[in-house]
Amino acid sequence: MVGKIIDNYKISAILGEGGMGIVYKAFDLRLERFVALKILNEKSLTNPNYIARFKREAKNQAKLTHPNIVPVYGFTEDDGTIGIVMEYVEGETLEHLIKRKGHLELAEALSILKQILLGIGYAHSKGFVHRDIKPSNIIINNEGVVKIMDFGISKSVNESTAITKTGVKIGTILYMSPEQVRAQEPTGQSDIYSIGISFYEMLLGKAPFDYESEYEIMEAHLKKNPIKLSTHFSDIPAEVDNIIGRALQKTLERRYKTCSEFLADIENLHDDITLPPVQKKNKKKEKSKAKTVTIGREKPENKRPLKSKIRFYLTAFVVVCLFGGLFYFVYSTVSQFWRVSEAGRGFGSELRPGAAAGFRWRTIASPTVNSLNSIFFVDNSTGYSCGDKGTIVKTTDAGESWVNIGDTAGTNLYDVKFVSSDKGFIVGERGIILSTNDGGKSWQKFTYDTAISLFKIIFLKNNYTGFIVGAHGTILKTNDGGTSWIPVPSSSGQLLYSISFADYNNGVISGWNGTILKTSDQGKTWTEEKKLTDTYLRDICFGNDNMGIIVGGSGEILRSDNGGEEWSKINSDSFSGLRTVFFSHYGTGFILGNKGEIFISNNSGKSWELSNSGSFSALTSITETPSKKIYISAGNGTIISN
Ligand code: ATP
Ligand code: MG
Repeated sequence: MVGKIIDNYKISAILGEGGMGIVYKAFDLRLERFVALKILNEKSLTNPNYIARFKREAKNQAKLTHPNIVPVYGFTEDDGTIGIVMEYVEGETLEHLIKRKGHLELAEALSILKQILLGIGYAHSKGFVHRDIKPSNIIINNEGVVKIMDFGISKSVNESTAITKTGVKIGTILYMSPEQVRAQEPTGQSDIYSIGISFYEMLLGKAPFDYESEYEIMEAHLKKNPIKLSTHFSDIPAEVDNIIGRALQKTLERRYKTCSEFLADIENLHDDITLPPVQKKNKKKEKSKAKTVTIGREKPENKRPLKSKIRFYLTAFVVVCLFGGLFYFVYSTVSQFWRVSEAGRGFGSELRPGAAAGFRWRTIASPTVNSLNSIFFVDNSTGYSCGDKGTIVKTTDAGESWVNIGDTAGTNLYDVKFVSSDKGFIVGERGIILSTNDGGKSWQKFTYDTAISLFKIIFLKNNYTGFIVGAHGTILKTNDGGTSWIPVPSSSGQLLYSISFADYNNGVISGWNGTILKTSDQGKTWTEEKKLTDTYLRDICFGNDNMGIIVGGSGEILRSDNGGEEWSKINSDSFSGLRTVFFSHYGTGFILGNKGEIFISNNSGKSWELSNSGSFSALTSITETPSKKIYISAGNGTIISN
């Protein structure tokens, strides 16, 4: 495409790609200026709804003139190519800025937030709802001016027909308001919610409800309150939490009604707040911060023009970052060295130096960059892994090479198990159960319930009795090797993540909000056990008839010595969430972490020591071949083996 002339636009570079097409930098030969040209992709072209949406985007945007909104120049239709022509903004998207910096300082975030509110407030006053506010649709130009893009799926509230009403779910789920989750018509207040989420992401570095499954995210929008930032960061005052709280109210009555109401609270913030008292611990660092990043309005005699103020803040921020970066580099180098040299480091009741030394890990590429969520080896050479967006990969040469055999469902797939070399199952989002009888050449799809994500599938040693667990307290059981699945009544309405059996009769399920369910009758009935934590318990595994380990999303480790009758917390110094626990046939225990950690135990899970995986990506699942080789799937689409 680059070099081609469309209409009177000469394409010069690719700027990025989104859901509807590729955005190019192009030169307008007639007006002799650069423009951005968003060209509809073929997939969208075959869909008349998309074309209508696209044309509407051009029309809508052209009606809006505001310094914080990217102006649309026009629309081009040339030889089957449909494109929207807009101002070329030289700058950086907010998404990229957050990624690059990790998170933004309060002063910078507030400055961006204000400009977003001014632009969106203006659009609302003209009767437009944006509907898809998110950091990738906000670009900050080289002068620091915020420009909002993509009123692509916005719709004039005066317009009576809504293409988006046809059941096509529109907008990115992380930023979606509760009413959009419920498929209700969005209003200006829905934009306010999405702005609130984006502001939160600026400060924290990630969105408040950034969970794995769509289901969890949607549930959180409907029911959960995000953690208060002021309780974690000394430079964020409680007033900021209150403002976020009002923007993120679940009900429209309690949420800010207008952007100007939202803005007024921010203006007040500038008037009233200086940085909170310096914490003793960080006295030195905080002091210099307090001097440079004061968010209180400057005294009149000290008034600076906005631009130089921004530049001043940015410079100060860069200096702080540089020092922080240097400190972090030195710290991480030293601690990495510490980790490697001090083989006995780990956690638990006793330290056992050297136990993990026997493992050396190497990373194997796979044909996908999608997150791999589960891996399973049938024998020494044949293995399968499944992941996001319908990804299924297979190896027949002991993991040396992998081929994509993914089905086209596009649904996130969470777990794979095989009961023989031909017969296997995969479960995933939207109640999907895939089964194969020919080693993955073909898959039959069965949908249990599209509203329920299924997270885990296991078979007991006989390969006939099996269980699937999922959202809404779902437990399915098979007695015929997976031919039929029957729902088992469960007292829980929570997300159930994982299940493991100590022996044929006694099994345990772990889930959301500290849920532990126990059965003593082969999974016919389940009772809820005493709660030991409020966070989610991501995985459970029994190492033998008595000993089991549960790991949690906040780094907890629970251990049982009596077949799951009682659980007690064992000391964990893991900073990140723990994702998976597994005991090999030989009794070695493995815990995988969300930041690439592998902890190993050789004493029945009493203590765990860190083994360097070489990966910083979440490690999601682990399997062992009969010849004792370990394979681990990772969130970045790679596979790790010893
Ligand atoms: P979605 O399709 O959901 O909107 P998106 O926002 O990531 O997703 P696009 O809107 O297609 O995708 O934009 C893709 C990228 O192109 C943007 O992230 C941005 O980097 C770049 N881009 C888009 N419009 C412009 C513009 N007017 N000027 C400069 N770069 C732009
Ligand atoms: Mg966009």
